[in-house]
Amino acid sequence: VNSRLAPMGTTIFAEMSALAVATGSINLGQGFPDTDGPEEIKRAAAEAVLAGHGNQYPPGAGIPELRAAVAAHQKRFYSLDFDPDTEVLITAGATEAIAAALLALLEPGDEVVAFEPYYDSYTACIAMAGGVRVPVTLRPPHFRPDLDALRAAVTDRTRLLLLNTPHNPTGMVLTRAESEAIAQLARERDLLVVTDEVYEHLTFGPEHIPLATLPGMRERTVTIGSAGKTFSFTGWKVGWVTAPPALVSAVRSAKQFLTYVASGPFQYAAATALALPDQYFTTLRSDLERKRDLLADGLSAAGFEVFRPDGTYFVTTDISGLSDKDGAAFCRELPQRCGVVAIPNQVFYDDTEAARSLVRFAFCKGDEVLAEAVERLGRLG
Ligand code: PMP
Ligand code: GLN
Repeated sequence: VNSRLAPMGTTIFAEMSALAVATGSINLGQGFPDTDGPEEIKRAAAEAVLAGHGNQYPPGAGIPELRAAVAAHQKRFYSLDFDPDTEVLITAGATEAIAAALLALLEPGDEVVAFEPYYDSYTACIAMAGGVRVPVTLRPPHFRPDLDALRAAVTDRTRLLLLNTPHNPTGMVLTRAESEAIAQLARERDLLVVTDEVYEHLTFGPEHIPLATLPGMRERTVTIGSAGKTFSFTGWKVGWVTAPPALVSAVRSAKQFLTYVASGPFQYAAATALALPDQYFTTLRSDLERKRDLLADGLSAAGFEVFRPDGTYFVTTDISGLSDKDGAAFCRELPQRCGVVAIPNQVFYDDTEAARSLVRFAFCKGDEVLAEAVERLGRLG
């Protein structure tokens, strides 16, 4: 493997999910729900297969029905208008959208400013594109962005800001004031913004504010979404990009040579899912909020310091109150000690010291699974 990828090793998610299977542990590592999304959406996928919809290569930009459904979703929730033909692109999950956006928009040596901890594919894709990552560190207990540090991180070589709100792994959701400050910086320094909003519907209190809704941002922003998180079908790998025509076209130039197209029949099912009534989205959120509290309260009782998240599937904890100090060692031993798998946050940082004792747990699991996990973690002592 080349020198750009060699430092990336194997993704932590593959490693920890394999460990969970090998040890028969409860997997609170990789973020995927243990219950599938709505029955009617599964049926839509099955019917698409049987009706012969999408079993052969779909159109390169995605099927028209799904592009229209993505545009309608942006309109329904955010009053954003996107032309389904020129401003929407369907991708193989958000993962491909991130890769294609970075490969399309970066020249070798361009700097990308992003908050760390970063989702692991960001570092790999910036590296594959020949870019240089410039981290701005989010720190406990609130993981709020330091806007002065962000401003200071931007140089003449900065090409784009890579944002993620709600933020994995911290669960931080950018406030309107923070988003406005970021938008002002982007406008002043004429930066592009790539914003990963896959957890847009998973917020517990604070409102999700798409960067593209702020003044002067629609024309410089590539917004990324995914059916995986919103509809609890992470295996389907249906994602999308919304952006002005020139940016969609750029992302598509890279995307066409990555997968060309993906997820044929699932694109039809995702189009159906995006049209689900508001009630679906409200229930998803309230179910997850209950799960967050179940796990957060249990972890607190078990001696973890808990940083209760405002969004996502994840709760970050500090293990210093237990006997351990190093999250990586802790996560390696956790399956043997109590049959639970978690993720050490330091894998998401360049500044690993800033996250030495931080550990992430996923709460997108059955209530009874979370209760059992909490009981096991309570025996750690
Ligand atoms: N971005 C973030 C922040 C994520 O947590 C994930 C993983 N769920 C992805 C992107 C990838 O999404 P997808 O499964 O749609 O490729
Ligand atoms: N996004 C999920 C997480 O953060 C994992 C996705 C993956 O396995 N690549 O846990």
